[in-house]
Amino acid sequence: MANLHIETPFIQSNMMGGKLNGDIWLKLDAVQPCGSFKARGMAAACQQFLDEGATSFVSSSGGNAGLAVAWAGRLLDVPVTVVVPESTKDRPKELIALEGAKVIVHGESWVEAHALATEMGQDGAALLHPFDNPTIWDGHATMIEEIVQTEVKPDVIVLSVGGGGLLCGVAKGLENAGWDDVKILAVETDGAASLHGSRIAGKQITLDKITTIATTLGAKRVAEQAWDLVKSGRVHTHLVSDRAAVDACARFLDGHRILVEPACGAALAAVYEGCEFLQDKQTIGVIVCGGAGITQAQLSLWQEDLNL
Ligand SMILES: *Cc1c(COP(=O)(O)O)cnc(C)c1O
Repeated sequence: MANLHIETPFIQSNMMGGKLNGDIWLKLDAVQPCGSFKARGMAAACQQFLDEGATSFVSSSGGNAGLAVAWAGRLLDVPVTVVVPESTKDRPKELIALEGAKVIVHGESWVEAHALATEMGQDGAALLHPFDNPTIWDGHATMIEEIVQTEVKPDVIVLSVGGGGLLCGVAKGLENAGWDDVKILAVETDGAASLHGSRIAGKQITLDKITTIATTLGAKRVAEQAWDLVKSGRVHTHLVSDRAAVDACARFLDGHRILVEPACGAALAAVYEGCEFLQDKQTIGVIVCGGAGITQAQLSLWQEDLNL
């Protein structure tokens, strides 16, 4: 079956690299139909479950993963239920419902919502994990295949990390392409440093709590595979503040006319700030992962809160 995600543009940016020496190239996955790169991996996982005979999908992500499952389910004509905690804002619920999925609000936090989704999974629905599944990584890896086609070979790929699904997918794509010499800069916000914290601790850690406005990056523990990549020295980690991530969203909106979540702004901030690790790189590829959970009004509120 044909892919559900679209092939996205890979364009050079002449307005982001003021503090860097190299050329900046942007992989614009913000333009995927469901608003983020999750289109790739979640659709791949949904298709696999469908091939294996699934008749319904369930997700416990009120964020871009849940939205991607709702979107993929609509295209595949498979009913989708997304279980979200009471803390989920109206906007994501509306977007998920707009894709024709059923939204169930259950429990105080993601843990309770996920427990119900797991129960539904045991009752026959295919349960879609948001990041920890090799099929998802294969789906995400297609963005690297597309970059390879352009014959622009970056020295480094800059990306955001939540649970590490995007990271694992990009690493897999680079491996498939034989681009083992391409470095990866994995960026998190201060309050969601589950990968960076693991690197510093020298072992895989679980965060007590998430304290960032980039809630999309809020995985308390990354996929084991993501930690393995860091352990092997394949991946460099970097932290930015919420303030820098939000500022990057505003600058990116002005510069490239695309509105992205702070989760994506984190990776962009590393470029705008001129992160040390990028200083000696000639060609810098940036995954503009997107995110549908943002409005212009919300961005303005964050800017005010952070005195930007
Ligand atoms: C899911 C998501 C991330 C983090 O991806 P992981 O695979 O969890 O590391 C970053 N940005 C956006 C917009 C996302 O939707």
